[in-house]
Amino acid sequence: MSSEQQHFKVSKHKEYLYVIKENISIVHPVYTNDPLNMYLILGSHSALLVDTGCGLFPLKPLVESLIQNRKLIVINTHTHWDHILGNEEFGEVYVHENEAKMISKHYNVSYFEDSPNEIVKIYEEQNFLIPPAKVIKTLKDGDLFTLGEIEVKVLHCPGHSPGSICLLTSKGELFSSDVAYYGDQFLPRLDEFPQVLDTLSKLIKLCKNQGIVEIYPSHRQYPCDKTLLTDLYNGIENIENLWDTKKVFDFFRAWQIDDDKFRYYISRE
Ligand SMILES: [Zn+2]
Repeated sequence: MSSEQQHFKVSKHKEYLYVIKENISIVHPVYTNDPLNMYLILGSHSALLVDTGCGLFPLKPLVESLIQNRKLIVINTHTHWDHILGNEEFGEVYVHENEAKMISKHYNVSYFEDSPNEIVKIYEEQNFLIPPAKVIKTLKDGDLFTLGEIEVKVLHCPGHSPGSICLLTSKGELFSSDVAYYGDQFLPRLDEFPQVLDTLSKLIKLCKNQGIVEIYPSHRQYPCDKTLLTDLYNGIENIENLWDTKKVFDFFRAWQIDDDKFRYYISRE
């Protein structure tokens, strides 16, 4: 088997839904949220790829073999490195308008220079500057993609990052990106927590009103049920009570706080 075949793990989760998993800890051991889940939703005439991963090995040939003759739409849920470094393989990539600038130019991953892992040589060969997609198209809240019988709606969910989005399908799946997953959480500064909590309460309400039972996060386990959203909401709301337990975590320029369900990295900048 070639290294790229070992690298991505593909599973057919439903007739119309593939999950392409990639371990991100191989880039740097500080990243513990394995695997990254990329999703491929197949409609009758178009397919939608959710995120493009770490850009270490070719992803496009694998995606093309799964979608056959369908037209491919590629979306980045947000512009953190593990979701976008495969963009250059694709002609056109959609991202929320708040983060379009981040991925319109070469993406600097020089923070991996000191990684103990051999694989970062792949980035080093590119001087730690990873090329962008040829065309970046912007998204806003409420945008709709029709893949055939399946429709996918864009929900702007700022907090984890300013342009984070979730995707809601007409079949009731919620793709929650890094807005909600079970794993180590990357949060903005404390004064931006109201926005994080607003987003989570919006999603909790949506699940209640639309009877959504399946949440597909971009990291670790899937599908999750809506308890994930309330667990995370309650945990983040409680962080101020644990503030005295914070430790410095320099690699992420963050404070680290742990509770019994999550580890939180809270930006110091
Ligand atoms: Zn991520």
